[in-house]
Amino acid sequence: MDFPVSESVARMKSSSTFKAMNAAANLREQGFDVIDLTVGEPDFPTPEFIKDLAIEGLHKEVTKYTPPAGMKSFVESISHFYAEQFGATVSPKEVAAACGGKQAIFNAACAILNPGDECLIPKPYWVSFPEMVTFTGATPVFIETEETDFILSAEQVENALTDKTKLLIINSPSNPSGRVVPPDEMRKIIEICAERNVYVLTDECYLFFVYSPAEVFTSAVLPENLRSFVCIAGSFSKTYAMTGWRIGYTIAPEDWTKAIVKLQSHSATHPTSFVQYACARAMERREESMNAVQKMLAEYKRRRDWLIPELNKISGFKCAMPEGAFYAFLDVRDLLGEKFKFSEDVADFLLNEAQVVTTDGAGFGAEGFLRLSYATSLENLQTAVERMNNLFKSKPRSA
Ligand code: PLP
Repeated sequence: MDFPVSESVARMKSSSTFKAMNAAANLREQGFDVIDLTVGEPDFPTPEFIKDLAIEGLHKEVTKYTPPAGMKSFVESISHFYAEQFGATVSPKEVAAACGGKQAIFNAACAILNPGDECLIPKPYWVSFPEMVTFTGATPVFIETEETDFILSAEQVENALTDKTKLLIINSPSNPSGRVVPPDEMRKIIEICAERNVYVLTDECYLFFVYSPAEVFTSAVLPENLRSFVCIAGSFSKTYAMTGWRIGYTIAPEDWTKAIVKLQSHSATHPTSFVQYACARAMERREESMNAVQKMLAEYKRRRDWLIPELNKISGFKCAMPEGAFYAFLDVRDLLGEKFKFSEDVADFLLNEAQVVTTDGAGFGAEGFLRLSYATSLENLQTAVERMNNLFKSKPRSA
């Protein structure tokens, strides 16, 4: 007899990003020299001082349960950090610790969505958004953004709103597109939603990974009348190269936060106590934390500035310059036809013929695209480009 999996879990699709990662691991096991461009995590070590703080927490016996919203020092440190870094007024009561940005988003979505609600999700989207929404019984409604180069506009949101819309999920800087919604547009989008009593969940997990002239922007700085419709999902994972530590948070109006905490108190309870301790202390050492971020950002920028022009030299490849995160979103539609029907076929070809592993865009709602992560060394990127160039050849030079 088949296992009687629950309807809410059966409705969810498996993660396409994990599929690509598994394909890379399989080839590696077979002894192939694989260049893995699927990785959604920094290739840098966690800053040493944060590791030391976790050890300090252990020695101080910060090893027991904390409140489900997080330790007092943790929620207060987030509040202070947003005040000092952005001039934002965030009450500790609006903060709830979570086991990573993913749980923060899941908690926030579950705390607001009901079956029958509609949740707007701009394309291309992070793979987990539609699945989380589907789990709640609400309906994901997708917004096409290609017309505006994958940067969500207020007009697109306005056109997509219906009487059933309860929530909009925005992710800027975006995984997978690397695009960044400009601050003015973000404000307009949230204004339009607030006017219609629609809530907004902004995934700010790549907050600091923005390349000039685009700007770092958090919705935490918005005025109270807008903030009362907004939940921010934050994470330490990408920002401080701490993906395995599983720590993130939400910043939301008090009632939304209470619902999030109630849910969390019956599931994970809270993220690891000494991890909260380390993060709280690291937030107090803002300069040191920001220096660590800036170093990583400079290296991502160096890779991006090299990679994108090189990709654009390859026949059949088109790639816009991403303003944020650490992904190149490659348009391979010129290659589609007889040999390759879908972008997945291009990804398979790269995997089998060049051992370059990419993630197919279809899983992000963008058939015809591949996501290439540059959270890997410049040497790896150079080898990948060389191998891809050998397969597809360079574009003819224009006269
Ligand atoms: N949001 C986006 C857009 C992501 O890409 C990820 C991770 O890949 C997350 C949220 C969640 O990250 P974490 O749960 O590690 O904080």
